[in-house]
This record gives sequence, structure tokens and C-alpha cells, in this order.
Amino acid sequence: KYKAKFLMASSSSIYGEAKLYPQVEEYYGEVNTFGNRSCYEEGKRVAESLCFDYQRIYNIDIRIARIFNTYGPGMRKDDGRVISNFINQAIQNKSLTIYGNGTQTRSFCYINDLISGLVNLMDSDYRKPINLGNDEEFRIVDLANLIRSKINTDLKFKFLPLPPNDPIKRRP
Ligand code: UDP
Repeated sequence: KYKAKFLMASSSSIYGEAKLYPQVEEYYGEVNTFGNRSCYEEGKRVAESLCFDYQRIYNIDIRIARIFNTYGPGMRKDDGRVISNFINQAIQNKSLTIYGNGTQTRSFCYINDLISGLVNLMDSDYRKPINLGNDEEFRIVDLANLIRSKINTDLKFKFLPLPPNDPIKRRP
């Protein structure tokens, strides 16, 4: 009715346990349909699919951002994401919980940069899904070391099992 543009906040999760690295937009991904993460991964995938149906059938002006790991002020303490977990554990003098051996990687984007990317995308004519994120990749153990070095170098690491279907390498 109002000819509004529609932004769908998709996710790097659509690539699942990606066998292609870095993950390019043309890659269809590797998602376990019944895994622990699948309701999120498949939810984002079906949302992209519906956006394209509305584009094809009703010519809705869609933009699809596949958002990679993002951090910054405003995250909830109990969000469960790695950066907020490590910082909150560190300031409470608790051990940092590393899942698996910590060699899995993620690329972390600062929230302001991500928002600039979203604004630029909305101002553009680009109608296919696009990856948004930082392409600088970190091992989780190196992230733990970095946060420990800034807050309290005496903190210990506690190694816990890697959650099932946790992607090993992720980079836009
Ligand atoms: N992770 C960890 N300790 C934590 C929380 C997460 O080692 O306390 C790991 C997790 O297994 C994953 C990575 O950090 O490999 C990023 O996890 P997060 O939940 O932040 O993001 P996502 O897995 O959705 O990329």
C-alpha cells in the first residue's frame, strides 16, 4: 500500500555447517534439518524464501542482509553469545567458558558498522541476499585471551563440550 521497502534481517546461520569458506552468497549452505540450531537456521531460510516469493508475485521491494556475528553496547548480559558471556564472566572473576577446544572461528562486527551496512543496503538497489559482517576472523580461544588480557590476566579457562552442529569456521 505505501510502497515501503522491506528489510529482512537474515543470518549467517543460513549457511549451517558450511563446507565452503569464506561463505559466499551463492553458496546454498549445509543445514541439519533436525539439529539443535535448525529452528533458527531453517526459520531464516524460509523467511528468505518468502521474501523472494513476495518479490516475484507482488514486486515488494525487498532487501536481505545475512548478518554475521555482531557485538556492542546494548547486548543482554544473559544473551548467551560468546562476547557478552566472556566479558560478564571476566568482570565477575569467573572462569571463561570455552566450548570445544576453542579453535572454531567467528568474525565479529561492531554494531555501528553493521548499522552503516544496513543503511547503505536500504539506500541501494541491491535486491539479492548480501552478507554483512567483518571479514577479520578470530579463534574463540584467541578472543578469550584478548578479553582476559584487558580485564584480569589471572582468569582461568573452563573447557566445556562443543554444542552439536556448532559451525567450525565462519567468515563473510
Ligand atoms: N562459545 C564459547 N563460549 C561461550 C559462548 C559461546 O566458546 O560461553 C562459542 C560457541 O560454541 C561458538 C562461538 O563461541 O563456537 C560463537 O557463539 P555465539 O553463540 O556467540 O554465536 P554463534 O554460534 O551463533 O555464531
